[in-house]
Amino acid sequence: MSNDVWALAEINNGKLANISLQLTTKAAELAAAFGGSAAAVALGTNTQAAAQELGACGAKTVYASEGEVYNQYLTQPHAETLATLIQQHQPRLVLWGGTNYGRDVAARVAARLGLSIEYNVGEVAVEGDGIVMTVPAFGGAQSVKMQFTGEGTKLLGARQNAFPTSRGGGTPQVEQVHAPAVPAKGAKVSGPFGTEGAEEAGHLGKAPDGHDIWMPAASRAKLEEAQVIVSGGRGLGGPQGFQQIEDLAAALGASVGASRAAVDAGWIPYAHQVGQTGKTVKPTVYIACGISGAVQHKAGMGTSSLIIAINKDKDAPIFQFCDLGIVADLNVVVPQLTAAVKRRKGQ
Ligand SMILES: Cc1cc2nc3c(=O)[nH]c(=O)nc-3n(C[C@H](O)[C@H](O)[C@H](O)COP(=O)(O)OP(=O)(O)OC[C@H]3O[C@@H](n4cnc5c(N)ncnc54)[C@H](O)[C@@H]3O)c2cc1C
Repeated sequence: MSNDVWALAEINNGKLANISLQLTTKAAELAAAFGGSAAAVALGTNTQAAAQELGACGAKTVYASEGEVYNQYLTQPHAETLATLIQQHQPRLVLWGGTNYGRDVAARVAARLGLSIEYNVGEVAVEGDGIVMTVPAFGGAQSVKMQFTGEGTKLLGARQNAFPTSRGGGTPQVEQVHAPAVPAKGAKVSGPFGTEGAEEAGHLGKAPDGHDIWMPAASRAKLEEAQVIVSGGRGLGGPQGFQQIEDLAAALGASVGASRAAVDAGWIPYAHQVGQTGKTVKPTVYIACGISGAVQHKAGMGTSSLIIAINKDKDAPIFQFCDLGIVADLNVVVPQLTAAVKRRKGQ
């Protein structure tokens, strides 16, 4: 086994996801500590452009593969390419991101090759000859330190936005990898329910079982990359409550987030959930409307630069860690905020 550390990059519709840069930066740091070098694996379209960005973050080599087989996403070709590369090069560690893509591909590769895998890692440190990972436990109330044991490549799944990006690298060597010939399967990914990058409409729609569900507008930044997020919780009272969240988000050019209570109630698709079992976000501004601030929600948004909370209960836990708290009925305050933002913009 080598001392190299790899990052599994993620390309969505030809665009490199930010998490790829975070993973590559961390891969370079860990590889340096182990005396190896960092590499990234980029599968999809526009891999040449992606490779330059990954190189800037410290990847010495980028294994790039383009082919029709990666479009219309199916797990199998991505997993097959990564598994083959791991078998050929035996890296010490492969970092993958806690996105739908990373979870899907890494789990299959682990099962196929019989490799150790860890999820939800928030911090990684080199101690002696091994690495120590910090993973949340007991609903995020505690964190647990873990270490891999045994032989073989290890697959480490990082929480989104867990690592910073640094661009101190250079131009990587790009190794073209043949895409596998995978026969068409009887499955395809479609629809907005739980999938990333899906087209969403921005209106009250119907879920497959017929219940009302809010479909936030497309064309906004992905939650984990958004600079401004407006999130709604159980305090919205129902899916239609997201209309005012959407209005404020549209006025601010923000993305729409949600608490798990809102997602579990079926008011908004899971792709919008922020928190321990949803997305980790790090915007400049996070506006929480009708969200109590449970520790599991905080786990996904607590490092936002400025947290604004609107809650009618002055004792809500969120007021203990927000930067600006508004004790009020959101049904009054949110439309007022939207109107104020529009006035400022001359709309
Ligand atoms: C293992 C595990 C994982 C979890 N993962 C997540 C996760 O990823 N993300 C997540 O969010 N949660 C997660 N949870 C759930 C979490 O514990 C909370 O239950 C959830 O965050 C509560 O959502 P909420 O704040 O919307 O609802 P509530 O806690 O019910 O809070 C609603 C808030 O709205 C306020 N409110 C009501 N009406 C109004 C009004 N008109 N105007 C203003 N305020 C109003 C209330 O005062 C209240 O504070 C997880 C739980 C477990 C056990």
